[in-house]
Amino acid sequence: MILPILKYGSPELRKVSKPVEVFDEELEKLSTNMIETMYSSPGIGLAAPQIGVNIRLVTIDLSVGEDPSQLMVICNPEIISSEGEQKNDEGCLSIPDFSDTVARPQKMTIRALNLKGEEVQYTGDGLLARCFCHEIDHLNGILFVDRLSPLKRTLIKNKIKKLAKAGDW
Ligand SMILES: [Zn+2]
Repeated sequence: MILPILKYGSPELRKVSKPVEVFDEELEKLSTNMIETMYSSPGIGLAAPQIGVNIRLVTIDLSVGEDPSQLMVICNPEIISSEGEQKNDEGCLSIPDFSDTVARPQKMTIRALNLKGEEVQYTGDGLLARCFCHEIDHLNGILFVDRLSPLKRTLIKNKIKKLAKAGDW
C-alpha cells in the first residue's frame, strides 16, 4: 500500500522517534508499505516519521527496486564509525523539488537491527553514506535544510511558505 508522505511543516517530521522494540507482523507490514511508497515516489530512502509513524525504522535502496540485494530495512540504526567528507546535492521526499549541497562523511558504518531483531552492520561509501546520515537525521527530527546556511534555509522556507499560501504544498 502506498502511503502519503508528510511534507515539511508536519510536526511528526520534527519529533525524536522511539526505538523499535517489537519485531512482529505489524512491523513487517509497515516496512512493506514503506518500501512500496519509497519505490513509487521514487526515492532511495524513507524513514517512518515521513509517513507519520515516529519509530526508528528506515528503508533504503539505492537501486530503487532494480536490484533486490541493495534493499535494506533497518531498525534503530546507530553510527559506529565515519570518515572523510563529501559535499553533494541532497534532496528529500518530504521537501519535494528542493535540493542543496550538504556536507556529509564520505564513508560510514552503521549498526542496526533487521526485522527479526537481529543485529546487522552496513558500511556505505558516497551516496549510501549520505543516505544513512539523511535517514538517521529523520529519526532525530532533523531535515537536510537544517544543515544549510541560515540564508539558504530561510530562502527555502520562504519559498515553501509561498507555495503553502497558494495551496501548492
Ligand atoms: Zn528525507
